[in-house]
Amino acid sequence: MADVTLRQVKKSYGNLNILHGIDLDIRSGEFIVFVGPSGCGKSTLLRSIAGLEEITSGELRIAGEVVNDVPPSKRGIAMVFQSYALYPHMTVYDNMAFSMKIGKENKAEIDRRVRQAAEILQLTKYLDRLPKAMSGGQRQRVAIGRAIVRNPKVFLFDEPLSNLDAALRVATRIEIAKLKESMPNTTMIYVTHDQVEAMTLADRIVVLKDGHIEQVGTPMDLYKKPGNLFVAQFIGSPAMNILDGRTTTDGFVASDGTVFPLPALGQGESALAWGIRPEHLKLSDSGVPAVVEVVEPTGAETLVMAKAGNNTLSALLRERISVMPGQKVFLAPDLTQLHLFNAKGQRIMRVRNASRVIRQMK
Ligand code: ADP
Repeated sequence: MADVTLRQVKKSYGNLNILHGIDLDIRSGEFIVFVGPSGCGKSTLLRSIAGLEEITSGELRIAGEVVNDVPPSKRGIAMVFQSYALYPHMTVYDNMAFSMKIGKENKAEIDRRVRQAAEILQLTKYLDRLPKAMSGGQRQRVAIGRAIVRNPKVFLFDEPLSNLDAALRVATRIEIAKLKESMPNTTMIYVTHDQVEAMTLADRIVVLKDGHIEQVGTPMDLYKKPGNLFVAQFIGSPAMNILDGRTTTDGFVASDGTVFPLPALGQGESALAWGIRPEHLKLSDSGVPAVVEVVEPTGAETLVMAKAGNNTLSALLRERISVMPGQKVFLAPDLTQLHLFNAKGQRIMRVRNASRVIRQMK
């Protein structure tokens, strides 16, 4: 059992500041995912926890112990990388056993742990194979197995699925979800730029931008109550529609002058942005007038992109529908699902009297 605590953790390369004072409490047994755009510092943060990077200042604790000056091998961590880097001339069994052999663990214990890890990862029947006779997804499972046998207190993953093709990525993601269930006491920290991985795996997600934490919360917290415009647009796919503008008695006037007949939910906030997720927009007989630009049927769903004024809005419809590019439609937002942000891009918490407003609209 190990919690991981970061206090004002900073990391610079020369005078280039990468992490700007990270405060974070990761609870023992939690599955935490770091997400954010490329270059925001996710890997640097993970590698700092691992001890592969020395932090410039601040304090890092694992299981209560300050580990700033503790080498990676003594931190009780194991790490799985994007490139699985197996020893090509060793069998799956030997790849998994290698670190324990080096550590002079006794043979029976090595065997027990390798077989247990192989069982968890469904690798038992491949133990005698060489890596070259395995698929990418299987190889990554061997790399995960190699980490499991070390019995880490904290398990770190650095974009472990990004070298796999789409189908294998989904399959291996499911394996990792099972792994989490089978190791409930192991703290897991996982870096990805893929928000679907973040949403499906995380107990809590840490959204990073430019070396700062933007928000920490459960996947549903971030989805339902994004704290600011950045998180609102980063979490959720397709991304949330955002319109800048201001509220007037006529409704919401977007910055291009288009009037949307939407209620002045943010009374008292003259300049603001509203956001609506694509799944909360419907085609209707009334609402926001728009012209269809693109229709993407994916089978179960249809994504419609339509232009309202200068803004393109996307609507994700749960059924197959027959609309054509060029067609005039009305988009009706589910007003209970509107997100409002102030001029600084911060969420306005009080979406007041939504039900009264909806009655007025009817
Ligand atoms: P992410 O994992 O979010 O894509 P990284 O943590 O890899 O981001 O990188 C964060 C920033 O730190 C990037 O701008 C990157 O160029 C910079 N960086 C990473 N490693 C080094 C290094 N060894 N020297 C200088 N800059 C680095």
